[in-house]
Amino acid sequence: MNQAADHASPLAPEWLAVPGDLNELQEPLWAAGVEKNASGEVTVDGLSVSELKEQFGTPLFVMSESDFRSRARAFKHAFDAAFADICGGVDVYYAGKSFLCTAVASWVAEEGLRLDTCSGGELAVAARAGIDGSNLGLHGNNKSDAEINRALDMSLGRIVVDSLDELERVAKIASSRGEVAKVMLRLTPGVHAHTHEFIATAHEDQKFGLSMAEDSTEEAGLSAAEEAVAAATSYASVELLGLHCHIGSQIFEPDGFAVAAEKLLGFLAAMQAKYSIVMPELDLGGGYGIAYTPVDTPRPPAEIAEAMAAVVRSTCAELNITPPRISIEPGRAIVGSTTFTLYEVGTLKTVRVDAPAGDEGQENVTYPRRYVSVDGGMSDNARPVLYDADYSAILASRDSDAAPQLSRVVGKHCESGDIVVRDVYLPADVAAGDLLAVPGTGAYCWALSSNYNYLARPGVVAVRDGAARLIVRGETEEDLLNRDMGVANV
Ligand SMILES: *Cc1c(COP(=O)(O)O)cnc(C)c1O
Repeated sequence: MNQAADHASPLAPEWLAVPGDLNELQEPLWAAGVEKNASGEVTVDGLSVSELKEQFGTPLFVMSESDFRSRARAFKHAFDAAFADICGGVDVYYAGKSFLCTAVASWVAEEGLRLDTCSGGELAVAARAGIDGSNLGLHGNNKSDAEINRALDMSLGRIVVDSLDELERVAKIASSRGEVAKVMLRLTPGVHAHTHEFIATAHEDQKFGLSMAEDSTEEAGLSAAEEAVAAATSYASVELLGLHCHIGSQIFEPDGFAVAAEKLLGFLAAMQAKYSIVMPELDLGGGYGIAYTPVDTPRPPAEIAEAMAAVVRSTCAELNITPPRISIEPGRAIVGSTTFTLYEVGTLKTVRVDAPAGDEGQENVTYPRRYVSVDGGMSDNARPVLYDADYSAILASRDSDAAPQLSRVVGKHCESGDIVVRDVYLPADVAAGDLLAVPGTGAYCWALSSNYNYLARPGVVAVRDGAARLIVRGETEEDLLNRDMGVANV
């Protein structure tokens, strides 16, 4: 096949290698059941991308239902097993904000998971899917009274309270209804993790959560977290279930979770002793990483679960407390890799780019970068713009023997930052009408999608046992005009 090294571009980032075979689906980017067929087309459970395009059009989110279910089960089983001797198992809350619709909510429930929401709208989806309120959590740093009331209407299993202000509001609303709200307190343990690193800070400068740092300006010096525990304990209309933290996203190493768990358990033990209470639950949040490119190396859930269990076990023993029931909130790690986005290629152009700085003796040399435009973009994947996120892509409608060429996959929006895949090697003969597949788009893509430039948001198709069904239909032009109240519709 291609002589990989000969085609390496000096413009490519250091981490990006020229694939040995451009036609191969690289592990571990793809959902189980995604393969290439004899004619070189990408298939899901045997359904080819050209059939999917024919039936549903592009752009399209293509999701494997069985892969979603097995990833959900994998988290539940791995954490249940690792924590069995500590607290009898773990409650896994799927973070609905990563991607939620009624089909997904019902799969989550069928696989024995619970569901986290963070708005009235997400609660509405859960209700429509028939999820029992006891299996739901509600997050958010600015819940409205209507959302709090809705949570109480639905007898939610937990409201995760984010501030002292909100604690008071929840207590008042519950009291006026003659009810008791089940509450967790979201704390900021001063641990921020991302991918391979975590940092620990004493003071928190972010909108979420109750600070665990002592307040040196007050005589008593109580942290906001302790004030909240004291207040929650004093309200008759509040049942304090326990503590919560969420330390970041796209995390590969378990050490940040371990440090956060230690800090929260230490605080939990101290509060239980000082206020003569029992907090039976501890939520360690989500943030488990996935592979967006071949250099990402997520760990299997069992490995993370065992590392976290070891810390919870030893810390509880040291503190001499009964371990609280542990819960976690994975979103991306369940849904992210289940889905790829299918695009059709349109306009192509190649530009010459100066040699990168530090390329000694190459000051006057330029290198080609090819722009491959697709029929979606930042409206269906905002993550490259928002977070500089990297993705990968493959020519999905056929095999090619052409040489690898450094390419940038871009959208069709009026924005030069409208990049889908910043750097990827694609066959040099990619042409208009070809289909491209971008893997790892299950989380925070559809969820963050917009109608920028009046593009209709794509649908989501779920494939199971070789059959495809729309779980969210794509928007039509009529949808786009529906809310426009100006010139009357005729
Ligand atoms: C976003 C979020 C999650 C899920 O994060 P992932 O990176 O998708 O696992 C879990 N808990 C809270 C509180 C969150 O805000």
